[in-house]
Amino acid sequence: MNVSTIMLRIRNKLRLLWGTPRRFLLNLFRPGYVRESLAQRSGECLRCGACCRLVVKCIFCFKDKAGLPACRSYNFRNANCSKFPFDSRDIADRDLIAPHSPCGYSWGRKGKKTNKS
Ligand code: SF4
Ligand code: SF4
Repeated sequence: MNVSTIMLRIRNKLRLLWGTPRRFLLNLFRPGYVRESLAQRSGECLRCGACCRLVVKCIFCFKDKAGLPACRSYNFRNANCSKFPFDSRDIADRDLIAPHSPCGYSWGRKGKKTNKS
């Protein structure tokens, strides 16, 4: 593994690490932004499970009888989970984990919230 690959992995890991407090802080201090962005979101969850292993695999994540990722804490999830993804930055984060199986949610069909960061 060369230096640039290592640096890229470190950068991606730091980005994913920052994603958790970013979502927490936005949910806490900018609920209007989150609400407005969610109102513009389209699609549905495809249960790929990528958002349950952004930094490490969540301890509540398991495979159900159909082999799909499921949540042992579904009814008690915090806003970071229940509102994921709430903007294109979240999509970009989960794409670092599962670039070949897109999230079922998206923005941009109405021309807004497409700013990948
Ligand atoms: S990344 Fe998207 S499609 Fe996959 S489990 Fe999370 S919300 Fe659902
Ligand atoms: S609490 Fe549930 S929804 Fe949230 S990361 Fe863990 S398994 Fe996924």
